[in-house]
Amino acid sequence: MARKLIIAANWKMNKGPAETAEFIGSFLPGTEELSQKCDIVIAPPHVSIPAASSLLADSVVALSAQNVSDQDEGAFTGEVATCMLNELGVQYVILGHSERRSIYGESDEFINAKVHKSLTADLRPIFCIGETLEEREGGKLEEVLRRQVSGGLANLTAENMADVVVAYEPVWAIGTGVTATPDQAQEAHAFVRSLLQEQFGSEVAAATRIQYGGSVKPGNSAELMNREDIDGALVGGASLEAASFHELIANAVA
Ligand code: PEP
Repeated sequence: MARKLIIAANWKMNKGPAETAEFIGSFLPGTEELSQKCDIVIAPPHVSIPAASSLLADSVVALSAQNVSDQDEGAFTGEVATCMLNELGVQYVILGHSERRSIYGESDEFINAKVHKSLTADLRPIFCIGETLEEREGGKLEEVLRRQVSGGLANLTAENMADVVVAYEPVWAIGTGVTATPDQAQEAHAFVRSLLQEQFGSEVAAATRIQYGGSVKPGNSAELMNREDIDGALVGGASLEAASFHELIANAVA
């Protein structure tokens, strides 16, 4: 089954509203052509979403949040609810990023609650999974991915899965400049697809887009995207500069 590429920029805690507007101004020209072969998504910090939302409104570039609350409203200091993102035209939300898991202690169960909350609000989760170097070297790669997939995507239907993008991001490759080789990435992606097959059946497994994340750059996006089970990228560092992110996507679709 042909799966359209999806490449998303995860800006993390970078770019306030002014820098966001500046980036979008330089990035948008040429995106219509790229979007024929690739869905393009930008995930600014929450405070920059209003600026991004108005600038992206008539564009082919979709807007994502980097996180969302598992609650609807009320006494949850510092949290942002799905309905607030809806009001700003946000379409995707990154959930379970390794920084949320390791720095803020988010568990598979908690991430699963956010996945459900997002889907109920018509926000498409970009659901992140991935092993640490210690886990990989300790032979635990498959065990970790299995736990993250079965826990984080628990109790979803096949219909729900049509709105879920999975991002495989080996923690040792995030922000380190060390990229998984295309073979290592392909092997892990094929395994993740087999987990989706066990949990949801072969149709869902064949249709679900699995992004690779971890030091993707303009120089390696093509060789990674050429592999059978790699359907896009979640990009941190190389998405912070408009020209570099543009080139990364252009190389991936070439
Ligand atoms: C990320 O934050 O999801 C990521 C993959 O970062 P980088 O591209 O900088 O490794």
